Amino acid sequence: MTALDSDNPPTIAIIGGGFSGCMVAVHLLRSATVPIAIKLIERGPTVGPGVAYGTREERHLLNVPAGNMSAFPEDAGHFLRWLDSHGDSPFTAESFAPRRRYGAYLQAILREAEADAPRLAQLEKIQDEAIAILPDQEGDRIQLRSGRTLHASRIVLAVGNFPPSDPVVAESAFYRSPRYSSDPWSPTALSHIDPLDSILLIGSGLTTIDLVLALQARGHQGVIHLISRHGLLPQCHRPSVPPYPPFLTIADVSSTLRILLRRVRREIDQAARQGHDWRTVIDALRPQTQVLWRALTAVEKRRFLRHLRPYWDNHRHRIAPEVAATLDRLQQSGQLRVYAGCIRSYEERDDGVDVSYRPRHQPELHTVRVNRVINCTGPEGNYRKLQHPLIMNLLESGRIRPDSLTLGLEVEANGALVIATGVASRRLYTLGPPRKGSLWETIAVPELREQAQALARQLLQSLRVKAAPAFSDTEGVMTQQAAAHIHDGRKGATQTQAPE
Ligand SMILES: Cc1cc2nc3c(=O)[nH]c(=O)nc-3n(C[C@H](O)[C@H](O)[C@H](O)COP(=O)(O)OP(=O)(O)OC[C@H]3O[C@@H](n4cnc5c(N)ncnc54)[C@H](O)[C@@H]3O)c2cc1C
Repeated sequence: MTALDSDNPPTIAIIGGGFSGCMVAVHLLRSATVPIAIKLIERGPTVGPGVAYGTREERHLLNVPAGNMSAFPEDAGHFLRWLDSHGDSPFTAESFAPRRRYGAYLQAILREAEADAPRLAQLEKIQDEAIAILPDQEGDRIQLRSGRTLHASRIVLAVGNFPPSDPVVAESAFYRSPRYSSDPWSPTALSHIDPLDSILLIGSGLTTIDLVLALQARGHQGVIHLISRHGLLPQCHRPSVPPYPPFLTIADVSSTLRILLRRVRREIDQAARQGHDWRTVIDALRPQTQVLWRALTAVEKRRFLRHLRPYWDNHRHRIAPEVAATLDRLQQSGQLRVYAGCIRSYEERDDGVDVSYRPRHQPELHTVRVNRVINCTGPEGNYRKLQHPLIMNLLESGRIRPDSLTLGLEVEANGALVIATGVASRRLYTLGPPRKGSLWETIAVPELREQAQALARQLLQSLRVKAAPAFSDTEGVMTQQAAAHIHDGRKGATQTQAPE
């Protein structure tokens, strides 16, 4: 094992090179005013696209209109201008561009930031997997799968979404069968599928729709079955609707989930009477969603997750009209069949697998015979279930702590990870999907671009402050939540993180 890096200039290591990691690197390169070394570690072959925009399938479209997909919060038209100067087909702010183009856009932004960066900021892209973080005297040492280690003063976990866990059944042997794919984003998820095979996709969200489109693009002719607890497909976007103004007041924010739901329904009815589409009312909630989420009690949050989540997801995470039209066509032809229910068991046969499920609100079991089953139930948020070496290492060493809703990790408002003893780390930060427990709305570009910019500022700020005597993360600092509780439980957000 070789140690390659000293910490002069200080090193900021970013683990994960999807949108989040790539954009933190871009902002560091753009705004560095002190010498820094940036190490961007990505286990895959390319930096930028990550899981979402790494698809090669042209029919996989962004699920957010191009006008809201700029990578920069202060420059709303940036992506549209890039599309204009790099494409042959015209796009408008309402267009849903292919996701692979967005991956190319992110790669171009990083290239440009590297080329324009001042000499004092240096970026090294490392194709490797981070498997452990070990504290050392003046920072941390990241262990890579290749055997290389590198020292860092600050580390950003930008590891994104994790594949889904297998649905719980009494007998799980089928999950080891070659007829089963556990990771819908794996390049091999659709390997060895005959065009006439019947396929069961578990889940009915955006990832499931991706697979339906990918199968269709390959000329698949067999029946595609979808099953999810509620059998709800994502709703469709409506083009060119005028935005609806934010309508919630401070009083709404501090009310219960039930009252809030009633309030939103009332607003939708009222908006409809004035000719507005319900989608604009849901979209008007977006800038306030994080505040609403934070104001709910833990009990209310759990209630939301138990009862409302599928409805929120299918109204909030919508699909492009052209994708909705394809799904309609497939459903009408009978090639796509959607069920609401829970899988109970699998019985493998020579020519396929019999999948038994209990339809929603019905007592008797139904069975469907298919050739392949692909799990598309959505990213796993319970970090204790993950088989990701780095996450397992960080949990074991107490450097991270799952949030109480098991949606992600406990994270401070400035992105600092909370360690096992409940204090905020001075050296480990994160953004994006791991913050779901504290922010809820934190997985799509409109939120991630803000977080990436704010986190880069925070990291640079923390390096500019005169170094305090070496602390270890086990000493840590009181979390903002804990401090807020002691000082004034209602005001919150007291900045208590000590400088390094
Ligand atoms: C299929 C799909 C489609 C989506 N479409 C949209 C959309 O149209 N619009 C939108 O706004 N949002 C969309 N999203 C939401 C998406 O989560 C965000 O937009 C964004 O791409 C998340 O980026 P990320 O960098 O946080 O995560 P990821 O893209 O998951 O990137 C994480 C990266 O970390 C790497 N990594 C993980 N562990 C390690 C390790 N130990 N060492 C080194 N590298 C590691 C992975 O290889 C990966 O490249 C989509 C998500 C998915 C899954």
